[in-house]
Order: sequence, then structure tokens, then C-alpha cells
Amino acid sequence: MLVESSYKSVGIVVKGLVQGVGFRPFVYREAKAHAMMGFVINTGDGVVIEAEGLECETFIKALRENLPKHARIDSMDIVEHEVYGYTDFEIRESTLGVGSVAIPLDAALCSACQAEMDDPRNRRYAYPFINCTDCGPRYTILQIPPYDRVRTSMKHFTMCSQCEAEYTDPTSRRYHAEPISCLDCGPKLTFLDNKGLGIAGDPIALAVEMLKAGKIIALKGLGGFHLMCDATSDTAVSELRHRKHRKAKPLAVMFGSLEQLQEYAMIDEEEKVHITGAIKPIVIVRSKSGTNISTHVAPLIDRLGVVLPYTPLHRLLFETIDFPLIATSANISDEPIIVKAEEIAHRLGNVVDGILNHNRTIVNALDDSVIQIAQGRVVMLRMGRGFAPHTISLRDSITKPILAVGAHQKSAIALGVKKNIVLSGHIGDLGSIEADGYFEKTIETFKRFYDCEPTLLITDLHPHYSSTRYAQEQKKEHYGVQHHYAHILACMAEYSLDEKVLGFAFDGTGYGEDGSLWGGEVMIADTHGFERIGFLKPFALLGGDKAIKEPRRIALSLLFERYTLEEVLVLKSPTTEAFLEYEIRQLYHIWTKKLNAPLSSSMGRLFDAVASLGGFIQTLDYEGQGGMIMESFVDDEITEPFDFTVTNREIDVSLMVEQIVALSTQNDTKRLIASRFIATIEAMMHCFVALHPKLPIVIGGGVFQNQTLMSRLYRRFGEGRFYAQQQTPINDGGIALGQLYYAYHNTKEKNER
Ligand SMILES: [Zn+2]
Ligand SMILES: [Zn+2]
Repeated sequence: MLVESSYKSVGIVVKGLVQGVGFRPFVYREAKAHAMMGFVINTGDGVVIEAEGLECETFIKALRENLPKHARIDSMDIVEHEVYGYTDFEIRESTLGVGSVAIPLDAALCSACQAEMDDPRNRRYAYPFINCTDCGPRYTILQIPPYDRVRTSMKHFTMCSQCEAEYTDPTSRRYHAEPISCLDCGPKLTFLDNKGLGIAGDPIALAVEMLKAGKIIALKGLGGFHLMCDATSDTAVSELRHRKHRKAKPLAVMFGSLEQLQEYAMIDEEEKVHITGAIKPIVIVRSKSGTNISTHVAPLIDRLGVVLPYTPLHRLLFETIDFPLIATSANISDEPIIVKAEEIAHRLGNVVDGILNHNRTIVNALDDSVIQIAQGRVVMLRMGRGFAPHTISLRDSITKPILAVGAHQKSAIALGVKKNIVLSGHIGDLGSIEADGYFEKTIETFKRFYDCEPTLLITDLHPHYSSTRYAQEQKKEHYGVQHHYAHILACMAEYSLDEKVLGFAFDGTGYGEDGSLWGGEVMIADTHGFERIGFLKPFALLGGDKAIKEPRRIALSLLFERYTLEEVLVLKSPTTEAFLEYEIRQLYHIWTKKLNAPLSSSMGRLFDAVASLGGFIQTLDYEGQGGMIMESFVDDEITEPFDFTVTNREIDVSLMVEQIVALSTQNDTKRLIASRFIATIEAMMHCFVALHPKLPIVIGGGVFQNQTLMSRLYRRFGEGRFYAQQQTPINDGGIALGQLYYAYHNTKEKNER
């Protein structure tokens, strides 16, 4: 072992996830262990450490190697300087200021706190707001960084002497646990009726009573309210669907324990790691058949969104409830999640029977994160609690702050400031007053958090997106980045790629450079531009928006591409059977005259068409339903693709259409059709991969939310060359990241080193 002999003094600036994660007490303990003198302090620029002693190198090594559970070091700048002559090591109070620090993220209840709340002798026994430096709310209660109690919504609660003693004791695991509190000094629960009026009694007992009676409650969680009811009760779940006007879109389910969850779902080791981990997102897994879960939870599909209790309050409910609970975001359709009890009473008063509320304000709304595992890798479907905001470190500094406003559905924004891109959590689908309002509020929050005023705005090319309109109204420099190129750039940003790549952007529909609707795009791209080297041969969306809800219209248009009207009229196919003869004639007229029949190269729409041709579904209740239903029929043993051709960049699927029509008249061919279709997409990709054997393969877009497809791609293209987002949303939730990555590489004023 190296013996250090000289007394040295160093200044260290640590950036990354180092606030709200017990980092300062950790530094304190390591400093004491290595007899270092000096101090540690949270600043707007990160954690600053001044340390001097004989063991400088081993102290620094220990900082890197023994990091606390949730901490992450992105950079560590170390400068050696004159010895100052400190006589002790201390933790200093934070200085105000904002900058490039990563925002601390919310964490699920930890096992140490869970043990305490379960222990009748502990002073926080059954306390619904127990937390420590390893767990509890962070971003959702933060008004402005740095993360200190006075700048969170906990500032309204004065610590009692016992809590204060823990808060100021560096050896306590609640040392500077900013939301620290107890039964005496912390937030309080209340139970309200659906008009928002208080009901006397034990709030948890009242909530449990309602849930047991098959009623629907709203419960205030970390980032917003959940709607909850008995997931095994057909009446409760169908009543929730009826009241919320949500026909078939799957609902997430919360289980009291891992054991209970495993009675209802099949999970592998990797899924278990995430389900039981420090964040506890909703994980989409395979459901078991024959359980008592209501068939209304996830109709027609074999997947289930599962989550374990992640706050002490959820856990208390399951003390006396032994059935799984629906836990879905409290909102109207795809609007932002609601954070105030008054708003629940006002807007969802006809949906809920009661409200379990408390008085710790949610400052920043945040939905639950939703992930899926494919071949051991995370596919981020919705980035929210525990993962958002997400910071990506850049090599060079951005001189003038940049704001990227993202797309329209699954809206999220990104801010480029100094050496960071910060991507926001899921906002919702824009286009309503609530969503557009929350979108603007998120922008204001980010500007405040990072103390900056963006001078350049990046948008989608789509002129009618609320986000594009917002950017135009700002009267600042702005320009658009093509939607599918932005998907590829988002993945490149996550992996810091700036070389030439082979990109596959497969999604619903996005505005193409030629004004048509793109969505099945193959491109050679780098950070400065792209060349479209392949795309699905455009087909007509008969009736425009109507076709997006009715896959049979898209399928019919593909039949018109392949057959004459007379042939279509006598064709045996689930698609033609879904229409009356005069409807087919009418739609043929639309098709030939090109009336309200925009052309699209969308892979998502091709999924829908195949769902119709194969007889899986003819009209949709929610986006992506066709693909999800087909997924439950896929057999991994069937790997033979359908036929297709590629001429002049166009991928023509008419041979596949013909083959599916032939198969669909035979019995029991759904398995074959679903499996061979997935194999066909793989084969299409392989065509281009084989032509460009040297380029990294980069993918993006909503189609890759398909778990079966993703698993096959990981198996086929494997390690080293194949890149898919894991930390940021692979769907439109990642568009802002891609837009910003483009601007970072193409800003006129050269970025400073
Ligand atoms: Zn804890
Ligand atoms: Zn207290």
C-alpha cells in the first residue's frame, strides 16, 4: 500500500446526483476516517469540499468508491492549493445559488424507514411521512435548488426538538434529511368527501372502509393523486372506467407485497430488481391467467402494469387491505396529474367517493414512471417519479441557454444550460388548457431552477402543435427539427454519440420534411443532418384522423393498393367483413379521389393495419392497442418473415398483405400472423443493416415500446453496435432531448470548451 507522507490541501467540486442523497454526511464520515480537516458545503455549482491532511489521495479514492446508494458523480474537479490550517472537519450550511447541479430525485420508502414504521416502540411507528437521506420526496417538493428544507414545501413545518437533533447530528441517518418530521411536527392526513369537505375519524380507516366497500378514492401520493379501488372487483373497476370515460386502456395495479404480486404476474429476476428497487416504478410484466383480478383491468392483453407501495402512506393502507388496488393517475384522459384536493373535488368529484389528503404541498407534479424490461434492458415508456428530471452531461459548455419544446403527445421539454441537457418528466398530451398550462409551468420551473432565460427555442416541424405555437409566440430565435430525426438524436444524446449512424425511427405519425406524415423511416444521420435512405411506401389514411382510431380503414387502403375494387368486394378478410359493401365503395371513392386521405409511411399505422387484416381488432380504444393485442399472440419460435420488397428506398409490403389475407381465412392463424409480422420488421431492418455493416444502429419511436420486438432486436443486433434508449423515453417523451442535442451541435456561436 502506498504511504502518503505529505500534508496536502485540495479543493474539490463534485457534480452529479450529490444533493438530497446523504452525500455530505458521507463526505463527513470519510473525512473523519482519513483524519482530514476542512469542510463540505452544497452550492449552486455542486458540492464543494475543502480538505487537507496526510491522506488526500485515499480520501478522494474513498469518495469515488464508497458512494451512497442514490448518489452519482458526473464530474469531480480537484485543485491542489495552499494549506489553510483547518482544525476540524465540518458540514457547512448551504449557500444560495442555482446552476448546473442535478436535481435530487424522489425515492421510494427505504427498508430502514419501513422497519421503523413497523416497530410499535419507534417514535415514528405507523407515521405516513417517515423518510431519511435514502428515501422520500425530493424534486416534487423543491421550489428552487439547492435542495435544503427552507426551499421545499416542508419549510411550513417547524421541526420539533427531537427531529432537529437528528437533522443536525452528522452520525444520524436523518442528518440533513430535508423533509424530516414526525407525528408531533410533520404534515397531517385528512379524509374528505368528494366535495372536498372534511370527514371526522381516522383518515386511513375511512379510506380502507371505502376501498373494502368497492368505492373509489383519490389518494395524495408523491407527485400527484392516484385513483384507487379494489382491482379484484368487476363492479369497482368497471365503475371507475365508466366514470373516468376510459374504455379499455390498461390500469396499473398496486400490490401489498412482492409475494402477492407474484400470485398475479410472472416476473423474471431483472423485473424483480426494478419492482423492488429504490425507485419502484410501474413495471409492465406478463400477467398470470386464472387469477381473481378483474378482467376490466387490462382487457384483451396479457400484460399488467404492476407497482409496490412506494410511500409510507401506501404501505399503511395495505396493513389492513389484502387485495390489490388499482393505482392510476388522477387526471382526465391524458392530461397532467392533479396535485390539489380542491381540484380533485372540482374536476373529478363525480369519479371519486372520497379523498385521502394531506398538507404537504406537491410543488412539482410528477406521474409515476412506467418501464418495461426487454432482454434485461430497461425500456422507458414514461419518465416520471424517481427518474425525472434527467440530466445528461455534455463535453462542451452551451454559451446561450437553449429550450427544446418537444412534440405534442407525451409532451416533455428539455433545457440546455452550461454543460447539461435537462429533460423534464412526462407532462401529458398537449392540446387542453390544463396540459398546455402545465407545459408552460414546467418551462418556468426549469428557468427558475437553472436561473436562465433561453434565447434559442427548438420545436417540431409540425405547425399546429401547441409546443410549436408556444415557441413562435416567444418572439425569439427558433427553428424546427424533424420529428423522426429527433428520435434518432435522442438516442444519440443518451449515449453521447456524434458519429454517423444508421437510424430506424418507427412510430405513429410525425410531420415529414415534405409535409406528409412520416413514421417508418430509415436514415443515415449524424448530429448535423440526415439522409432518408428508406421508408415504408406511403399508404392513404382513409378519413384522416378517423383512420387512426379505425385500423380497418388503413387495412382497406392497403387492400386497395394490392387488389381492384371488384376483388376487394369479394375478398374473404376480417377487414372487409368489418364493413358493409356500400362503405367499401365509399372509401374506395375517397381513396381514388384522394379526399381526406393523407399519405403516411408510419410503421405504427402498419401495425394497426395488420391488427385489422389478421382479425385482432377493427376499432381502437387507445393508441397502440392493436400492437399490444397482437403481442399476446407472438410465439418466439416462429421467426419466418413475410415477403416485402425494397425498391428506390421504398419498402413495399403488398406481398405481405397478400400473405396475411391468405392466412386470415384459415383457422387458428393469429399466432402465425403476429409472430411473422414482428419477424418482418426485424427483416426490414436487417436489409439496411447489411448494407451498412460498419455504422452504429440507433433506434427510436413509439413502435419500439413493443417488448417482443425489442427483445428480438437485442438478441439479433446484440451488444456493441446496437443502441436503444434506456434512461430516457423511447417514445415522443424523448423528442425534446433529440431537438436539444441537435441545437447543441449546431449553435452558431461556437460552444466554449
Ligand atoms: Zn428511509
Ligand atoms: Zn418531529
